[in-house]
Amino acid sequence: MDMKIALVPGDGIGPDIVEEAVRVLDRVASKFGHDIEYKEIDAGGISIDKYGIPLTEDALESAKASDAVLLGAVGGPRWDSLPGAKRPEKALLGLRSGLGLFCNFRPAVIYPELADASPLKDSIIGKGVDLLVVRELTGGIYFGERGRSDDGEEAYDTMRYSRMEITRIARKAFEAAMLRKRHVTLVDKANVLESSRLWRETVSALAPSYPDVTLDFMYVDNASMQLVQDPSRFDVVLTENMFGDILSDEASMITGSIGMLSSASLREDSFGMYEPIHGSAPDIAGQDIANPIATILSAASMLRYSFSLEKEAEAIEDAVKSALADGIRTRDIAVEGEKIVGTKECGREIGERI
Ligand code: NAD
Repeated sequence: MDMKIALVPGDGIGPDIVEEAVRVLDRVASKFGHDIEYKEIDAGGISIDKYGIPLTEDALESAKASDAVLLGAVGGPRWDSLPGAKRPEKALLGLRSGLGLFCNFRPAVIYPELADASPLKDSIIGKGVDLLVVRELTGGIYFGERGRSDDGEEAYDTMRYSRMEITRIARKAFEAAMLRKRHVTLVDKANVLESSRLWRETVSALAPSYPDVTLDFMYVDNASMQLVQDPSRFDVVLTENMFGDILSDEASMITGSIGMLSSASLREDSFGMYEPIHGSAPDIAGQDIANPIATILSAASMLRYSFSLEKEAEAIEDAVKSALADGIRTRDIAVEGEKIVGTKECGREIGERI
């Protein structure tokens, strides 16, 4: 397969970790007989330094012309004094909205070798944690009508969804479940909110198209408890924007390893933007210390969701598991007494296991 991938290394550790993901992708391409054409795009602080703005029209056009985008991270103290609209983080919003990405995938996985990093007890995570939060990204209360009364004593925000918005993300969740344990849990507040009742109605109507997937429902307050009490009961958690914002952070914290978690932002076709959930970690940039695994796993998600290359995606995930099992640890995931490797060695060790 021919793949056109836009690379957005960004700032801080971004270039360090994207380089390792490319190393692993190149290895996959040569092992499985694919051709990858990369195009590097400036976004974030580096773009501010070069062009005065966090994302140029040219950069966005280059991203649009690719099949998928792999992003490192943006931001850092150098640009912290800039006003909101000029800050590096605006590049992320510009890319997400400019590319029409309405669906966010946030996997949370606990690797047995790193179980000690989880704040939860062994008895809880012992059953395994491997779940995917599917969050709606462009609708709901964050984008609904809002305002204040004339006297300023009252304020309101509106949660609004259309059947179309719910259907297109529910399809993404069902399709992801087909590649996993075939279980979707719709998380909502249907006992109170009319918009949640529309979610239930719409997702239930779609379920017969995916007969191999089990669909169940959970209120968001219960889901937030179940995530820490028995996370193994979840496979795919489908939810609206604000609930997803909160639950995806909760889910990632139960793994305890920020350097290991990836995310994907998708739209209706196969295009997607893939990135680690952590930031640009300016404190360790350019020192060969950063953990590249979240970005390497983002590249695996890219192969799975944008190119339907399931075998290749699994090859990367298996290589990560095997490297962890063999004691490969960057500083952030090592416990006392364990040998620590640098960013490059970690990437090389994973690449060699493809
Ligand atoms: P951060 O995630 O960059 O760092 C938090 C802590 O985790 C730091 O101690 C850092 O060293 C460590 N860390 C993060 N990623 C790591 C990795 N791969 N390997 C080892 N250690 C890692 O969050 P922050 O310090 O709040 O933010 C730093 C900058 O990143 C800010 O400018 C912020 O705006 C930006 N940021 C960007 C994104 C993004 O690009 N998606 C997300 C969050 C924050």
